[in-house]
Amino acid sequence: MDSSLFLEMLSVDSTSSRERDYALELARRFAAPGRRVETFEVGDGTLNLRVSWGEPKVFFCTHLDTVPPYTPPQMRPVTQGEMLPDGTVAAADDLLFTGRGTCDAKGQEFAMYQACLRLEAAGQTGFALLLLAGEETGSVGAKAYARDCGGGEAVVVGEPTGGRMVSASKGTKSFEVVLQGRPCHSGYPSEGESAVERFVSLVQALRGYDFPVDPVLGLTTWNIGRLRSDNPQNILSPEVRFRIYFRTTFSTDGQVAEVLGRLLAPGDLLIPYGGDTPMHYWTAPGEPQTTVAFGSDAPQLPGFRRRALCGPGSILVAHTEHEYVLGSQLEAASEQYIRIFHALGDRPGSVVMKFGGTSVQDAESIVRVREIVRARLPERPVVVVSAMARVTRSLVALAEAAGAGDAAGAARLLEALRVRHQETAEALAGDDVDVFMPLVDRMDTILDTLADEVDVVLEKGLTPRRRAAILSAGELLSSTLVAAAFRRGGIPARWEDARGRIVTDAQWLSAEPDLAATTSCVQQMEAAEVIVTQGFIAATPEGETTVLGFEGSDYSAALLGMALSARAVEIWTDVDGVRTADPRLVPDTVRIDSLSYDEAAAMAGLGARVLHPKTTGPARSRNIPIRVRDTRHPEAPGSVIGGGDVPDGPKSIALITGKDLAEVGFADVREPLDGNSLLSVIGRGVPSDARLREILSAEAPIVAEGPFSLSILVPEEAAPEVLRRLHRQLFT
Ligand code: ADP
Ligand code: ASP
Ligand code: MG
Repeated sequence: MDSSLFLEMLSVDSTSSRERDYALELARRFAAPGRRVETFEVGDGTLNLRVSWGEPKVFFCTHLDTVPPYTPPQMRPVTQGEMLPDGTVAAADDLLFTGRGTCDAKGQEFAMYQACLRLEAAGQTGFALLLLAGEETGSVGAKAYARDCGGGEAVVVGEPTGGRMVSASKGTKSFEVVLQGRPCHSGYPSEGESAVERFVSLVQALRGYDFPVDPVLGLTTWNIGRLRSDNPQNILSPEVRFRIYFRTTFSTDGQVAEVLGRLLAPGDLLIPYGGDTPMHYWTAPGEPQTTVAFGSDAPQLPGFRRRALCGPGSILVAHTEHEYVLGSQLEAASEQYIRIFHALGDRPGSVVMKFGGTSVQDAESIVRVREIVRARLPERPVVVVSAMARVTRSLVALAEAAGAGDAAGAARLLEALRVRHQETAEALAGDDVDVFMPLVDRMDTILDTLADEVDVVLEKGLTPRRRAAILSAGELLSSTLVAAAFRRGGIPARWEDARGRIVTDAQWLSAEPDLAATTSCVQQMEAAEVIVTQGFIAATPEGETTVLGFEGSDYSAALLGMALSARAVEIWTDVDGVRTADPRLVPDTVRIDSLSYDEAAAMAGLGARVLHPKTTGPARSRNIPIRVRDTRHPEAPGSVIGGGDVPDGPKSIALITGKDLAEVGFADVREPLDGNSLLSVIGRGVPSDARLREILSAEAPIVAEGPFSLSILVPEEAAPEVLRRLHRQLFT
């Protein structure tokens, strides 16, 4: 380790606003053949610095500035047991560096640069050292970088975390508060009201307020600063102003403003001064982890697909006069950065493959799925499965039987589920005990948990929350079978519980995902050759099971695809792609080559069961194509939704009964639906197609139109016939 370089770095004063010369000095020092050195103006006179080796995918990033006051560095050997500046003792003989920046953040700069040198020496490319200005004064450098240069595949942000990888950090929320008083002579305080007294009451009320303790980030804390009231001592305070700065958790970030607001009176002011939301970070397998309550540049670098936070030294000595770092800590950090670089290259999920209920309905189907996935192993697939065909329906019946107090009926349904899954397990595992035993163990655990939940319902009644817990068993079981079948076939699949990845609110049965939390949880998923997980099921931030609504597995796949920035999301089902009508109702449907996200969403919303209506949202947000493929005919082309240009014109006719329509939540129809079906032609340009309006109106009046659809209402019994007639006219 080149400690003279480190000492030189430390001997430049780069306290915030003075980091420009330091950046230029490093730019000179770090220039060498095979590297690209660039500086970027931040706009306030400071500079960001980037040194790249090849086309960077992994960015080692920390800051150039330090807090004042500047103190020059010192280096001296310490012996084992010797007291260190913070009162702890050296665990071994070591080298002690003291002075400003040793631990925040020149220690990080130095350790990261050492890691880059070692990667360079090993012939690696595809990484960069990114040193940003102004972290200590509001992350101005990071903001400018995000604005001007965007992001990349992964960023490892260096801060003193004691060598632990941060799994989550608290958020911050800052407010200026102005409390009003009514001034009067202090001898007669009942004639007015003191804003200072009101301040004290507010602080007391806030102390008494029970913010929920977050399972990951723990307590919510707050601190008051810039407190002032300018009244003379003999006049009641007319006004108190102060700043209040919260450190928030996933459970409280959204509620502190409201809690504070409730403590104010009319006439008071609450001015938000921004802050960061709590964040999840990517962590590398096998590295020690922690959570932190301090800020960094990481929240300001959203353009990076994965963000990690880790570095040598202790945050408790950063910003103090005891700031120090040990040579061994720098050495360990540079080794760790190299391990992190390699772990980041190990990236799962360039394709998400979702298999529906019929695709996993029995052992034979599951083996077919395995072979489809085997052909795709180089793409590191994430496999999402539905419950085996009809299982979700049995679970609904089970929940309802238990809710109605029918213990015998519930027991029968449970037993049938147990038998079906066990028989499939036997067929899949054959005589391979190493696969069979853990498989049966796991399934027993899931089934026992299900039985316990059913007992609770028998005793206490059915609630949406208990229903969600019961429904989740279908996907937990099927994914367990699929993962075991993969292993039996020599594919090293890892089973992943989707409830640790897809984060939702507590609308138990049609839960709304929190996209930001989901994205960071998914991005923390450890890489594996194949990940097998469940569709449909998710959990609240507190870890309580929720489900995404009927047929929700498609939506799960799209959410995972979005979070992983997958190249494609594939929906494997029992039809060759999206067709001009439901092939169960129309014999001669035609496959649609490609359709837009809007057209697919309209179809799903108007009853075409092939895709869950919300699926297109997350895919569209990253322009990820959704391919609909046939498990029985993997060679068939299927359909592509989104991701490119699509011709105009009618694509498909969908049919939905009044009852089902209520279920998908389509309400914008002008006529009553009782006994009727809604029949809709879908495609871009459809509403303005006069010929089409004529053809439809000849059957029944047009009762609804959307931006991509025209709908008529026909009696339920007549609907299939009308559908076939219209289909012939439009598509053959
Ligand atoms: P999975 O269990 O794989 O999710 P679904 O039963 O939910 O499968 O969806 C596939 C079914 O969607 C097909 O079997 C088909 O009957 C129905 N479907 C309805 N409309 C269409 C359409 N326009 N194109 C293709 N399939 C459709
Ligand atoms: N098993 C769930 C359902 O039937 C989810 C799915 O299959 O998409 O609704
Ligand atoms: Mg489906």
